Amino acid sequence: MAGSQYEQVLARLREASEILKLDPGIFKILAEPERTLEVALPVQMDDGRIEVFMGYRCQHSTARGPAKGGVRFALDVCMDEVKALASWMTWKCAVVGIPYGGGKGGVCVDPTKLSKNELARLTKRYVYAIQSIIGPEKDIPAPDMGTNAEVMGWFYDAYSVLTNTFSPGVVTGKPIPIGGSLGRREATGRGVMVSARELLARVGKSAEGMTCAVQGFGNVGSVAAEIAYQMGMKVVGVSDVTGGLYNPAGLNIPALVRYADEHRVIEGYSEPGASKISNAELLELDVEMLIPAALQGQITEANAANIKAKYIVEGANGPTTAGADKILEAKGVICVPDILANAGGVTCSYFEWVQNLQHFYWSEEEVNTRLDAIMSKAFKEVWDFAKEHNLSLRTGAYMLSINRVSEAIKMRGIFP
Ligand code: NAD
Repeated sequence: MAGSQYEQVLARLREASEILKLDPGIFKILAEPERTLEVALPVQMDDGRIEVFMGYRCQHSTARGPAKGGVRFALDVCMDEVKALASWMTWKCAVVGIPYGGGKGGVCVDPTKLSKNELARLTKRYVYAIQSIIGPEKDIPAPDMGTNAEVMGWFYDAYSVLTNTFSPGVVTGKPIPIGGSLGRREATGRGVMVSARELLARVGKSAEGMTCAVQGFGNVGSVAAEIAYQMGMKVVGVSDVTGGLYNPAGLNIPALVRYADEHRVIEGYSEPGASKISNAELLELDVEMLIPAALQGQITEANAANIKAKYIVEGANGPTTAGADKILEAKGVICVPDILANAGGVTCSYFEWVQNLQHFYWSEEEVNTRLDAIMSKAFKEVWDFAKEHNLSLRTGAYMLSINRVSEAIKMRGIFP
């Protein structure tokens, strides 16, 4: 569906810009990514064959700071998707007030079909091809779908070798011994639950005993479920790609986390009182809080009317479609949008970069305290803005961030 994803991003931008009465000139700037680069990457495979993979990097905006955003290795990676994800990063960084613009990159490849050596060669060739536009003060990539800390380690090494510099700050999400930050793995799920906590405080509800369901039990979902459990919530449902589990008395989340750590999936786990449910059933459980933390496009016009949760906190990127948003709003459901709720990951990436630039490393407690402070301040700003202008939290978050980027553009002026 070439062209469609960026068109959707533009539609949200246009809508928020109209309410904001944004200068049409600024809208024109924000509607076009600053820079895109498409590269062909020849890689010698283990059997001697040469394969060529297409790679992309997009810098949507650097008005508020260097571009920041992940590198995705997946078969559906294309320039349209990379552009859409890059602009999302612009808004996400602006909404939490960290000094970055938005970027994203990727390679069209199925990483599961490559050996480790082939993946390392592909990563290093990609760094070579985009090296002129990235750097600790220009554009700082990070892991995304299909990439991980190991890939970021190769990335950092390739950039440092190619530029003959010591540059851990060129990329975040690195392994801890080579400049990664403590707390990064848990940061997104932790940030999701800071958002949940702040929301409950504002609606006058206690987390103690509140029923909750979490879709996705990976990096974001499992940490969110564990913190929800620690906060005293009754996590009655969780799911992953293999299906879901439901226990009306509350699932034993620490046991489930241990099981998933060992087996990679929740399939096969059992406990007294738990039964199997589908992902579709999980979303429609009679719970007070729903945390979609798996995939985009899960809450749609087809199921929004059946959602019983009063509060939705978006761990995943784009789990709710625009059509579903309208149905949920009409039902009075309060949704903490992805660009706010899951910004804990990029916030901790920012901490990693700051530590790399200073060559001075923080304790995990320091990381978590700073993360909490940034996430709760961002939540307050979005909440207050949305209440003041009588908007949904999503529209409020978009308007606040578009405003911040547009102010930065105006203050810097148009060059020359
Ligand atoms: P992950 O790969 O660690 O986990 C994904 C989870 O979703 C797994 O449990 C998987 O089994 C499950 N899943 C996959 N397909 C599914 C399906 N069809 N139905 C139900 N569950 C399914 O990924 P993650 O890092 O936890 O990311 C989850 C979401 O959060 C994504 O949308 C991602 O873009 C977003 N996100 C992640 C981070 C981060 O720091 N990891 C930051 C911001 C946003």
